[in-house]
Amino acid sequence: MDQHHHGLITIDDYKQHIGEDTVTRIKDKARAVQDLHVVNINSTYYGGGVSQLLGSLTILMNSLGIETGWRTIHGPPDFFSVTKKMHNALQSGDINWSDRKKEIYEAVVHQNAILNHLTHDVVIVHDPQPLPMILYYRKGAPWIWRCHIDLEAPHRELWDYLTQFIERYDAVILSSEIYAQKLDTPQVFFMPAIDPFSIVNYEMSEGECEERIGHYGIPMDLPLVVQVSRFDRWKDPQGVIDAFNIARQEVPCRLVLLGNVATDDPEGPEVYESLLSQQTDDIIIMSQQDGALVNALQRKAAVVLQKSLREGFGLTVSEAMWKGTPVIGGNVGGIKLQIEDGVNGFLVSSVEEAAEKIVALLRDPEMCREIGVKAKETVREKFLLSRYLEQYLDLFNSFETVYKLRMP
Ligand code: UDP
Repeated sequence: MDQHHHGLITIDDYKQHIGEDTVTRIKDKARAVQDLHVVNINSTYYGGGVSQLLGSLTILMNSLGIETGWRTIHGPPDFFSVTKKMHNALQSGDINWSDRKKEIYEAVVHQNAILNHLTHDVVIVHDPQPLPMILYYRKGAPWIWRCHIDLEAPHRELWDYLTQFIERYDAVILSSEIYAQKLDTPQVFFMPAIDPFSIVNYEMSEGECEERIGHYGIPMDLPLVVQVSRFDRWKDPQGVIDAFNIARQEVPCRLVLLGNVATDDPEGPEVYESLLSQQTDDIIIMSQQDGALVNALQRKAAVVLQKSLREGFGLTVSEAMWKGTPVIGGNVGGIKLQIEDGVNGFLVSSVEEAAEKIVALLRDPEMCREIGVKAKETVREKFLLSRYLEQYLDLFNSFETVYKLRMP
């Protein structure tokens, strides 16, 4: 394979962040699984954390000589309406898990299985949408189910139904031990991570930040309170507006709520529209698909909020922390493990608490700076993509051992 990836990021680019020894160790682990042909399958090419992760990780794996692909499944709107309801129920919501929904789910996945001829050495299936695909292949390789969802309180009936598919897999990856389930399949725990070189995260200059923000006419005369997230009720956009409205009575500030809509999430437009009537000069609600704007806002914000009610792992939390910006996160799911309360950010459990922390931070630039420094260091140590990549390599290597034992 071509060893030159002009303009593309390789593991060598990570030396500046993680050091030469770590890069060498990762390369050694990659060499051991060099000949593998790997495929990832999920349900959207755009929008949400999974597509961000796959976009960066598949390129990085290829640069290490592991031929890694990324395919998305397709389906009509009613399929995605069913799968979004499943997603909500797995994050503790309710669902009427009817035969009709099962039928739509299973039929569309079956069609996608027919369209994809998977003869790879490792198959990684992401989240519940393509989960039953495994039924339709004569398995000659390890299949991994990688679930990114907050599974602290999954809907029991739905989870039990999904177990019949999950237990056909060779391994399940969850984002944390806190999501561990009773399963016959071995479970491993990898927290997601951010790509420091992506459009959303690269080191953007002051001038470029201002240009990007200015392009959308966002005034910079007041401190910015920012939340960036898909328009989804689990991100609690209304709670963000309510917290901001309390905080601004104490300190002058402006709110920017920037979001997008993933192609596999039919509820997004409705959530966005339900917020619009609350727009004012100081409450800016934007639906834009602009990674550079995300980057600029996370850098220029005085405070970033991620007031989620459920969150498997919040990429946006680590993204803002990486930029040295203080983050106030909902005290839920993965965010609890990303932020150490009072040290490198704050965890909050109510609108009032969020408002209180916004005010405290806006009044104390020195505290913002100290928290920001610690936040950045936390991400460098724990949440860069190189760590996530290495965990995958360890997993592949463990399968390799199994294979060599089986086929001498
Ligand atoms: N994102 C973006 N534009 C937006 C909103 C979000 O580029 O308007 C990105 C964000 O920067 C992050 C990802 O989409 O990389 C969302 O991932 P996260 O884990 O925070 O949440 P998810 O959408 O997966 O629930």
